[in-house]
Amino acid sequence: MIARSRGNVEIRRVSELDRWTFRASDLFPQITEHELRAASAILGDRFFDQQSHAIVLAIHTYVVRIGTTTVLVDTGNGNGRDRPNLVAHHMFETDYLERLRAARIQPDDVDLVICTHLHPDHCGWNTTLRSGTWRPTFPRAEYLFHRPEFEAMRDLVIGGADNGVQADLIRMWNDSVQPVLDEGRWGLIDTDCVLAAEGDAVITARTAPGHTTGHLIIDIDEAGGGSILCGDVIHHPLQLLFPYLSQGGDSDPSQAAETRAALLRRCIHEGKTMLTAHFPAGVEVSFDSQENTYTCLGDNHSEARASRAQNQLLIG
Ligand SMILES: [Zn+2]
Repeated sequence: MIARSRGNVEIRRVSELDRWTFRASDLFPQITEHELRAASAILGDRFFDQQSHAIVLAIHTYVVRIGTTTVLVDTGNGNGRDRPNLVAHHMFETDYLERLRAARIQPDDVDLVICTHLHPDHCGWNTTLRSGTWRPTFPRAEYLFHRPEFEAMRDLVIGGADNGVQADLIRMWNDSVQPVLDEGRWGLIDTDCVLAAEGDAVITARTAPGHTTGHLIIDIDEAGGGSILCGDVIHHPLQLLFPYLSQGGDSDPSQAAETRAALLRRCIHEGKTMLTAHFPAGVEVSFDSQENTYTCLGDNHSEARASRAQNQLLIG
């Protein structure tokens, strides 16, 4: 679907997975029963499976067309990945490439690929398996990596694995990053790197550390506002209600919470639309700088009103 189309910029959300469920305590180890019940009551069925009490996520990628440049932000989990320790990422078989084509995007159309961070659900379709070999999926594209993120993950690979999760991250490097280094066009970028510009529209990669060392958000600035592709700075709408709640994979939970609060403040004060990697499909968050509130826009307007009332208490 087209998430935004205005002037020189079109943003298409291409979802790899529409429904990705987790036990609440696995995703947010510090969440209390009270917080969970409150969030479930306010946000409703779209975000919580009422039968299993699981938290509902999705996996989205974004194609940004700015002038003549096509940028793919995040590449999802990818098919056929052996992740025995990160079982939620293990051996996907999705129709993501068909979904890209249905959105009128061929692999050859992509000029730049950039991942908000190097976790399995954000860099998987960097590559595809062809004749037993992982090859770059987007043959014309230049793949850009944020230097601190790239170096931290490369150091992990060089140092070897101390635990099962690290072993899966090394597997991820070997099937989703190393083939790009071997065969693709790639480069390292530093903070606040302008990726493309056309007229009054600019797309910029900005640092947003905490979930990982070198996590990026992608700013799309346009006259009258713009959008932020926020990656894993926020995972689920319950973190709008409780922004201090860390996700289990955050490498530095307190820094992640600071980064999340800063993102929400920027969205409110700069009038940005937040486009997420994991909120259930069809949900957008809008911010009202006059009332200093944000609203989770879903199908159910009563949810939105409830969220607004609640959020007044939380963002100052
Ligand atoms: Zn993620």
